[in-house]
Amino acid sequence: FNNTQCVLCGQCSLACPVGALVEKDDTERVLDAIFDPDKIVIVQTAPSVRVALGDAFGLPKGSIVTKKMVTALRMIGFDKVFDTNYGADLTITEEANELIERIKSGQKMPMATSCCPGWVNYVEKHYPDLLDHLSTTKSPMQIFSAITKTHYAQQKHIDPKKIFTVAVMPCIAKKYEITRPEMGRDGYQDTDAVITTRGLIKLIKYIGIDFNNLPESEFDNPMGEATGAAAIFGTTGGVMEAALRTTYEWLTGKEMQNVEYTPVRGFDGIKEAEINIDGKKIRIAVAHTLKNAKVIMDKIRAGECEYDFFEVMACPGGCLGGGGQPVDTTMAVNKKRMEALYTIDKNTKYRKSHENPYLKKLYAEFLEKPGSKIAHELLHTHYHARKKMYDFDK
Ligand code: SF4
Repeated sequence: FNNTQCVLCGQCSLACPVGALVEKDDTERVLDAIFDPDKIVIVQTAPSVRVALGDAFGLPKGSIVTKKMVTALRMIGFDKVFDTNYGADLTITEEANELIERIKSGQKMPMATSCCPGWVNYVEKHYPDLLDHLSTTKSPMQIFSAITKTHYAQQKHIDPKKIFTVAVMPCIAKKYEITRPEMGRDGYQDTDAVITTRGLIKLIKYIGIDFNNLPESEFDNPMGEATGAAAIFGTTGGVMEAALRTTYEWLTGKEMQNVEYTPVRGFDGIKEAEINIDGKKIRIAVAHTLKNAKVIMDKIRAGECEYDFFEVMACPGGCLGGGGQPVDTTMAVNKKRMEALYTIDKNTKYRKSHENPYLKKLYAEFLEKPGSKIAHELLHTHYHARKKMYDFDK
C-alpha cells in the first residue's frame, strides 16, 4: 500500500482504527514551514487530542491537558494556536440547518453525518448510490481552515497564500481528506498539513519540551473559543448530541433545559432513539466502526430504514480511538477519554454550538446566516463515487 491506502481490510480503506497503517509523517514539512520567515503558521487541534496527549508523558489516561498542549504548540513555534472545536461549532450550525431543511422537504432522508473521512470514503466506494444521504457540511477541520484562509486572512490583512495551516488530529484519514480537490480554492489547499497526536508527541519530544512542567495557557482568539457541544465531537454519539441541542432549539424556538442526551452516549455498536420535537418524532441512530455502519446502509438500500438522522464514526469509540492516537489505545482507555470529553462539556460556559459568541459575530460580519450562498461556497462540499479496492460483498 502507499501512504494513504490501507489494504488490510478494505472495509474502511482510509481509516485504520488500530493504527496498523504506517502513517505518512508530515512533521518535517511542518517544521520547514515554521522556520520559513515568509509563512504564518496556524495550528488547530481536534477535541480528542487534548485527552490523549498526556498518555505519552506518563499522566493518567484521560487527563485533560488542553492548556499545557497550547503552551507546547507555542513553544514549537506556531504563530497562532487555535481550536478545531470552533470549526466543530460551525459544522453543527450548518448541519443542523441542513437537517431542518431536509426534514421539512422530506428529501434525501435519512441524513448522515459526514465529518469522518473514513466513513465518507467508505460510502463513496461501497454505497455510491446513497451519496445523497451524506450531509454536505464539511468536517470541523476543513471548515476551520476555509475560514482561516478567507475571513481571518481578510481581517488580518494577510495574503492567504502566506498562511500555512496545520491540523493536529487523532486521525490518519484526515491526511487524505485535505488532498481532496474540492477542499481548497484559488490554487491552494485549505489545510496544508495534518499531524497526528503521535506526530505532535514526536515533535514535543524532539524539541525537548518538559511537557508535565509546562505552564498553562489559553488558545488564541477569535478561533479559540468553542462550546461544550464541540468538545464532545471526539466521542461516538457526540456529533449527534451536539446537533440535537441546536436542532431542538431551532425547530421549537424553546430553550433546551437538559442538554445531556444520554441515549446516544456509550460504546454500543448501534444506538437508536426517538425524540419528540413539538409533536414530531425524529428517529436517530449512532454507529461506530464501519461494520455497524454497513448494517444501516444495507437497510437504507433495501428501503427498510426508518431513521431521520444518523451519525457514523469509523473508529472504535469515535475519534478518541482514532488511528493517530497513542498506540496503547484500548476500549478501557477510550472510556477514560470519553469521560474527559463529557467533563470538558460540563465545565464549558456555552454548551450549544449556536450560542458561541464568536460564531454569532462571524455570521453577522461574513457568513450572513446558516446555509447562505457564501456558507455553501466555503463550508459545504460534495462527494464522488470511487472505485473499490476489494469487493467484500462478493
Ligand atoms: Fe478519523 Fe475520527 Fe473518523 Fe477515526 S472516527 S477515521 S479518527 S475522523
